[in-house]
Amino acid sequence: MKRNIILMGPPGAGKGTLAKQLIALGYVHISTGDMFREAIKAGSELGKLADSYIKHGDLVPDEVTIGLVKERLSQDDCAKGFLLDGFPRTTPQAEALEKLTKEINRPIDVVINLDCDKNELVRRIGGRRVCKNCGAPYHIDTFKPKVDGVCDLCGGPLYQRNDDNEEALKVRLSHYTNQTKPLIDFYQERGLLANFDSLKGSEALFDEIAKFLKS
Ligand code: ADP
Ligand code: ZN
Repeated sequence: MKRNIILMGPPGAGKGTLAKQLIALGYVHISTGDMFREAIKAGSELGKLADSYIKHGDLVPDEVTIGLVKERLSQDDCAKGFLLDGFPRTTPQAEALEKLTKEINRPIDVVINLDCDKNELVRRIGGRRVCKNCGAPYHIDTFKPKVDGVCDLCGGPLYQRNDDNEEALKVRLSHYTNQTKPLIDFYQERGLLANFDSLKGSEALFDEIAKFLKS
């Protein structure tokens, strides 16, 4: 069983959806985006700082994000295997993670890269709704909840993220292309990369990846 995993891919590729499914296999889910949104909801200093970047589609500064992940990955529950979702997103983050995983002796076993066509990303993000309470993602056309506006998993209210608009999405996609995409080579060179096609339905993709992780 592969233990310590990074999920990579552009915004809208389905990292969050896949992560929520993989939790059932026992992984601890660490989403920097969810952590920032929690901090924003709580109104903390970190939240205020993160919000000023996130709402425009910009990346939160590396030193802030790296500090947050260091603290989280060092906690005891991560010993059973973790799923990093949305981190690393820049080369300095990937380098800091490499150093940290050595120090705490929890090496990355595999990097799952989700490929997705750009038109599809725009379609997915344009119609995305998210549970305010647990973060579960839905889509207004293709992944509707059983009851309109209500999360199937926890009953929380669904909302549209304030960075899921056309303008912020353009910025997010350009950060992805310029800063995150180069990490594909970074992990390819280390022999850790595994590519999957996220245009498959989410159930088929989950089955394929779950099988791969158990092999
Ligand atoms: P998505 O993958 O759909 O773009 P996330 O929920 O992963 O969304 O992230 C939302 C936002 O949170 C990002 O656009 C960015 O502003 C911030 N963020 C999340 N992870 C990182 C990170 N590793 N480094 C910098 N900023 C981040
Ligand atoms: Zn929910």
